Amino acid sequence: MKKILEIENLTVSFDGFKALNNLNFSMNPGELRVIIGPNGAGKTTFLDVITGKVQPTKGRVLFKGKNLKKIPEYKIARMGIGRKFQTPRVYLNLTVRENLDLVCNHNKNVFSTLFKPPKSVESRTVGGLLETIGLEAKANAPAELLSHGEKQRLEIGMLVAQSPDLLLVDEPAAGLTDEETENVGALLLSLAESHSIIAIEHDMEFVRQIANNKVTVLHQGSVLCEGTMDEIQNDPKVIEVYLGKAPSITPEQMNILRIAVSMAWADGNFTPEQMNVILSRLSREFAIDTEHQYSLQQELQNYLAKNIPLEELVPKLKNFGEKERVLKLSYEIIRSNKMNRQEIEVYQKLLKLLDLPDDIVEQVETEIEAKYK
Ligand code: ADP
Ligand code: MG
Repeated sequence: MKKILEIENLTVSFDGFKALNNLNFSMNPGELRVIIGPNGAGKTTFLDVITGKVQPTKGRVLFKGKNLKKIPEYKIARMGIGRKFQTPRVYLNLTVRENLDLVCNHNKNVFSTLFKPPKSVESRTVGGLLETIGLEAKANAPAELLSHGEKQRLEIGMLVAQSPDLLLVDEPAAGLTDEETENVGALLLSLAESHSIIAIEHDMEFVRQIANNKVTVLHQGSVLCEGTMDEIQNDPKVIEVYLGKAPSITPEQMNILRIAVSMAWADGNFTPEQMNVILSRLSREFAIDTEHQYSLQQELQNYLAKNIPLEELVPKLKNFGEKERVLKLSYEIIRSNKMNRQEIEVYQKLLKLLDLPDDIVEQVETEIEAKYK
């Protein structure tokens, strides 16, 4: 079978730093390929090269057998490569239908699209798209009223309207609620029946949902390994560089620590020394021995990078005991150095979300204050 995409010995250097390093990759038409890899692995650069935004330093990219060397971005787009960026780019003051009309009509002029009655063929296309992206009920709502996930789906719809042969999506689940993540996943799976898709993704739950075929793991600008989700999750190389060991504490404990860590992160202004003190305090909370405390400290560092909003974390607390523990740890953390405005703001927000009785809050704060007397 002729490959839709073939990448040979691709290297991209930025001032000598190899963001991509002798990378080889190929995929068949009709595949839904998921690409994962830690931050800085080169995933976005990989898409930048395919779309012509960045030129290879070495090696080549073949799309349907054609070398993309020196072809400008807009021409590559016309050749049939569509890209969905991380943040939605839809016209907020147009309705969902009008946004789709714009791209379904070949004449991409906003005014002519708005004022010419759409031909029946075209409106049927728009109708089909609305159904595909699950936004029929919101067809006449202005795009600005859509949730973040709905906007993502609309933008995917707009991309599909241009019938690209290859669809590139960069972290489509980033910042979505669980329900929206599932919707976007389902949409990608249904599109995969008739499109070739590369989805770059960080969120492992999402990867599990959509990866029904091959997953490619990027690491330091090269392909580390490829296989089914099961294969890569059990590959020692992947476990080492990307997935890490399964967290050594329970998800509930991890949730508690993540919330407390948000306090420390509030002003984004920590010296590594301060951060170490906090990580060490937090890891002591659940470590079973010194060795575990050390490894837990490393684990926490990785989880810090995720920066999940409190609104998502706090509702996961299971009971009163967990809430109280979070309160204690969080107050200890902001009290462990000079409090600043951002920290107090985040702490206030936490208190609101925790919704604990005032006397409990007062009691916890007084207990911790006593240690500083
Ligand atoms: P990922 O998307 O996997 O997180 P990127 O492709 O964004 O990774 O980046 C890979 C590496 O290349 C990173 O170390 C990044 O700092 C570097 N990089 C990316 N773009 C540039 C650029 N334009 N100039 C210099 N370095 C870059
Ligand atoms: Mg990226």
